[in-house]
Amino acid sequence: MAESHKERRERIKNELLKSKGGKCCKCSYSKTLSALCFHHRNPEDKKFNISGNCLTGIARAALEAECAKTDVYCLNCHAELHDKEGWVHEDGKRTPK
Ligand SMILES: [Zn+2]
Repeated sequence: MAESHKERRERIKNELLKSKGGKCCKCSYSKTLSALCFHHRNPEDKKFNISGNCLTGIARAALEAECAKTDVYCLNCHAELHDKEGWVHEDGKRTPK
C-alpha cells in the first residue's frame, strides 16, 4: 500500500526526532514522538518550521541542516521555554520576559 502524504510527513518527523535522541532534552520525555517538537536555539537562524506541513516538500539535506540548529523539547517544556520569552496566553495576557 502506498504511503499517504500524512504518513510520509510523520515518518520524516519521527526519523529526524530519533536522530536527535528521540526525547525531550530537558525532562527526557519520550512516550510519544508526536508530543515532541524542534526548538531553534537561535531564532534568527530559523529558516522554516520543521514540524510544519511543509516537511515533504523540502530536501532531506535542508531538513537535516535545519534540524542541527534545534534541540528537541516536549510540548510542556517547550511552552515553559516560551514563557520565559514572553508567552501570549489564551486569555490574551502576556507573560513578560
Ligand atoms: Zn520535557
